[in-house]
Amino acid sequence: MRRNDELAQWDRDHFMHPSTHLAQHARGEAMGRIIRTASGVHIEDRNGRRMLDAFAGLYCVNVGYGRTEIADAIAAQARELAYYHAYVGHGTEASITLARMVLERAPDHMSKVYFGLSGSDANETNIKLIWYYNNILGRPRKKKIISRWRGYHGSGLMTGSLTGLEVFHAKFDLPMDGVMHTTAPYYFRRDDVSQSEAQFVAQCAADLEEMIDREGADTIAAFWAEPLLGTGGIVPPPKGYWDAIQPILRRHDILLVADEVVTGFGRLGTMFGSEHYGMRPDLITIAKGLTSAYAPLSGSIVSDDVWKVLERGTDENGPLGHGWTYSAHPIGTAAGVANLELLDSLGLVDQAGAVGAYLNARMAEALADHPHVGEVRGDGMLCAVELVADRDPRTFFEPDRKMGATVVGHLAEQDVIARAMPGGDILGFAPPFCLSRDNVDEIVEKTVTAIAQAGL
Ligand code: PMP
Repeated sequence: MRRNDELAQWDRDHFMHPSTHLAQHARGEAMGRIIRTASGVHIEDRNGRRMLDAFAGLYCVNVGYGRTEIADAIAAQARELAYYHAYVGHGTEASITLARMVLERAPDHMSKVYFGLSGSDANETNIKLIWYYNNILGRPRKKKIISRWRGYHGSGLMTGSLTGLEVFHAKFDLPMDGVMHTTAPYYFRRDDVSQSEAQFVAQCAADLEEMIDREGADTIAAFWAEPLLGTGGIVPPPKGYWDAIQPILRRHDILLVADEVVTGFGRLGTMFGSEHYGMRPDLITIAKGLTSAYAPLSGSIVSDDVWKVLERGTDENGPLGHGWTYSAHPIGTAAGVANLELLDSLGLVDQAGAVGAYLNARMAEALADHPHVGEVRGDGMLCAVELVADRDPRTFFEPDRKMGATVVGHLAEQDVIARAMPGGDILGFAPPFCLSRDNVDEIVEKTVTAIAQAGL
């Protein structure tokens, strides 16, 4: 094994990390942990330090670490056939089987899945499919996309534009033309604190309607949304939100894309977030939970109605000019098949719902009356604790104080990994579904301690 100090030096010298302060890292001031192995809900670094990963990597290792069933499926696939492409109708047993398994689990009106590699590229595919769709329908002007402030949809040029978080736009000349952001369905952070939840939902709907009227419905192709805001703060939609939004989209013939990269395959205790919140999307984006991150794989799922237009398009114009070398990669799809089988055989979706409910209840019980906790919220195996300087009147900390990151640091000192969500002092928890109630008790107890250690 390489010496740790040697690896750390190579890391500083050669490795440009994603979402990292590059200068600090190169100076050795922002070194992350070098992880060696993991099992269940625990990861272990090269110094033998074991930590409870209460964020499942980047909320993706849903079945937990160290699943030999998936590792074996990957190894068997690599030995038999590491790669063949999926262009011009080619496939493998794994890719065809996984397509069927995805559609068996997706809402009934969905028709086909296109496999990619990351959540970003799957959203990019969905954008292109929607533009293609409107061109085939003879509506070349209907191309703009509305997403929400605080939405997260990826880091590409268009997907980074859809993302409604300033840090992903700044200095990248984003958002690109044709992408607009409407009100975040984030009741706790509403501008007017006197608004009731119902009034706030009515305002979200009115803001959307006004944007559509201003731009012209004939220029707007799609509305992009996570069922529940993830990276933007782990915020379940306010009551009635989807019932208010969807009729507006239908009235203006605007497609609904459910970005289920986080919520797909069980994180809310249901197979998809769309069913959980009564959404009827025209397209769905999936990634993370599709393989529990054992291999990179994503998917763009289209409805029967969208599919019919795509089909017609290729009859009129020839093959779809859209493909990645690694679309439907055999190793990724083999991992996906094994992962979805495991999700079923271990009953992990139900466990995510049940243990997630326990996590949210315990966290709320322990912190709801804390003077510096503005809100404990979540759904399924997702939970957030939002810190405030004062509860009444609702006052946030100065961003420079980095209170969220400080508390997350104190949690890490106690060997629990949470995530400081961007755009506020928000502690995020999104553990693997195999979390036990004892693990929950540990997370909650240590969170209370970490908040106290931060002087709150
Ligand atoms: N959509 C959502 C909802 C996500 O949370 C993410 C990643 N966190 C993405 C898209 C982008 O996925 P990737 O990082 O795999 O490109």
